[in-house]
Amino acid sequence: MPLPTPPPVGTAMLPPRTYAGKVVIVTGGGTGLGKAMAVEFARLGAGIAVASRKAEHRENGVQAVAALGARAIGVELDVRNDDAVASTFDRIEEELGPADVLINNAAGNFPSQAVKMSANAWRSVVDIVLNGTFLCSAEFARRAIARTAPGAILNIGATYSWTGGPGTAHSAAAKAGVMNLTQSLAVEWAPNGIRVNCLAPGLFPHDDLPPVLLARQNPEADCKRIPGGRVGQPHELGWAATYLCSPYAAYLTGHTMVLDGANWLRRGLAMPDFVPIDEQFP
Ligand code: NAP
Repeated sequence: MPLPTPPPVGTAMLPPRTYAGKVVIVTGGGTGLGKAMAVEFARLGAGIAVASRKAEHRENGVQAVAALGARAIGVELDVRNDDAVASTFDRIEEELGPADVLINNAAGNFPSQAVKMSANAWRSVVDIVLNGTFLCSAEFARRAIARTAPGAILNIGATYSWTGGPGTAHSAAAKAGVMNLTQSLAVEWAPNGIRVNCLAPGLFPHDDLPPVLLARQNPEADCKRIPGGRVGQPHELGWAATYLCSPYAAYLTGHTMVLDGANWLRRGLAMPDFVPIDEQFP
């Protein structure tokens, strides 16, 4: 029997007004898991800033939030650009007010063999995932500290932070850096009332994945590969994010929570046949 399916989308997990009057920034909040998290914060009363590069993505996120009757704005941002990060936070403050929560979700998703990976591909993923997370977090904290306000930062990690993984040398190394950064920043900013946590999703398929990953989706096979017998549903990740940033987690900081149906722990004596990288990502 697989792990039970969660209650459906729309079910309240925290009290309905948990984020009333709060401002939440979600980088990459217009697609996939970022959008699913933005929607769960909005359902609990937050105003949402969807920050990413592409207008059509931002518009998707804003529409999903607005459909719940919540306030949302789309703000253009490339998280690699420190000047743009500062001016984006200015714009969010002008339109929604100062941010209470930052979700560092933006990432580059393109598997590649290490020997075929260009320097540009390596730099680009590390720049978005690790440098972008640092730049947005530091901007958030400087502002919260200046106005003596508490805050919560949630970094979106990945379980290959611990294991590494074929085809993901760039992303796994960057996510490992993000997990480590989570711990440093949690200690530095706890005296300022700012919590920093990390949420590592397992397999959470969604329709916004890039074509190369969409093509690899095979729900039946995926379910058999996961000890929990099923993939994650994006709103489950949204619930975890809203809990980790909420007052109910006020003493929780520097932690990485894994939500993956025990998938990353399954290594054991009965392993499937090894598939070389050339065959996985030709
Ligand atoms: P996704 O749909 O591809 O989302 C990535 C988002 O990042 C996009 O909205 C994109 O928006 C934004 N982005 C990319 N580069 C950016 C940049 N330079 N500046 C600002 N925004 C940028 O992927 P996803 O599956 O939802 O993944 C969300 C997070 O979960 C990622 O951190 C990913 O590593 C993690 N994760 C996902 C899974 C999964 O099963 N889906 C598993 C493990 C971890 P623009 O193109 O508009 O910039």
